Amino acid sequence: MNERRKRNIIPRIRRRVNLPLERVRRKISIVIPSYNEEDSLKPLAVELRKVFNEMKDYDFEVIIVDDGSTDNSLKILNEIRREDERFKFISFQKNYGKSAALSVGFKYATGDLIVTMDADLQDDPHEIPNLVKKIDEGYDLVSGWKKIRFDPFIKKYSSRIFNFVTSLMTGIKIHDFNCGLKIYRKEVAQSIKVYGEMHRYLPVLAHWNGFKVGEIVVKHHPRRYGKTKFGASRFLKGFLDLITILFTTRYLRRPLHFFGTLGFFLFLIGFGIDLYLAYEWAFHGKYLTNRPMLWLGILLILLGMQTIAIGLIGEMIAHHAQRVEDYHIKVFKL
Ligand code: UDP
Ligand code: MG
Repeated sequence: MNERRKRNIIPRIRRRVNLPLERVRRKISIVIPSYNEEDSLKPLAVELRKVFNEMKDYDFEVIIVDDGSTDNSLKILNEIRREDERFKFISFQKNYGKSAALSVGFKYATGDLIVTMDADLQDDPHEIPNLVKKIDEGYDLVSGWKKIRFDPFIKKYSSRIFNFVTSLMTGIKIHDFNCGLKIYRKEVAQSIKVYGEMHRYLPVLAHWNGFKVGEIVVKHHPRRYGKTKFGASRFLKGFLDLITILFTTRYLRRPLHFFGTLGFFLFLIGFGIDLYLAYEWAFHGKYLTNRPMLWLGILLILLGMQTIAIGLIGEMIAHHAQRVEDYHIKVFKL
């Protein structure tokens, strides 16, 4: 039976005989972004195959997305593919970044569940059964948490700050946003758009789109071959991306809520300051010429009004840009 027919028929049978989800053979796609990791690819394939042999109830496919590597990766990927057809790969013409690699991997993945992991052997494939177990508890995305982490000192601590701030600003209670090892239901991976350097915020995007996000502690290893592609400097870019995410998801359709609130507070503080100074001038005769705070008050009032006005302009733009496909629809029954 060809792949497509099989995929159509299995859910139908499942519905008819009312089998629980666990009893039906499911397929897991493993998406692996890889950039100049020639030495790691073969050992990784060996480890993955061990896991596949242990998880006999599942079908597997691996999609390695070679992000424009300039080393021998392509040759090695061809060799791996020749040995085992489950190992597919896509190779970019140039280096587009991890987010791009993930996004293309998601596009071509055909599994019911999609696991992402790094190619550098730092993520442990033997965690895959644990991720599957957790997602079956009713989550849509489960993220790994490298509780004990093998990375350079600076990176470990800058990452901790990054995770703390991200958790604070987004309200999502997970510890490790940037862990390469994650599992998604197909619908989640295919409905969130990853670009720029947004791969760090996949749990955030999923959460804001109404999906349930969970976390498990995973094993982490030191890098065995090659070197890291991300220095500590990436965190500045990371925060800029967080602002973009805040705008494009939360406030895209209601910019005035953001600018209006901010503007209103600025205005209120300025107005309060100047009101107080006016009161002191009127009732206690304190001359305004001696009060530099007056300028701060004026500044805040103007800034507040301008910020509100920016929000209003944003509303006008948003009003014209409304598109139906921005909404993630769960069920269609028309
Ligand atoms: N990676 C990629 N494209 C890039 C940079 C990195 O596909 O432009 C891959 C890389 O090969 C690895 C994963 O993303 O599989 C994580 O990168 P790295 O190990 O350098 O990051 P770290 O673990 O140091 O945070
Ligand atoms: Mg790594």
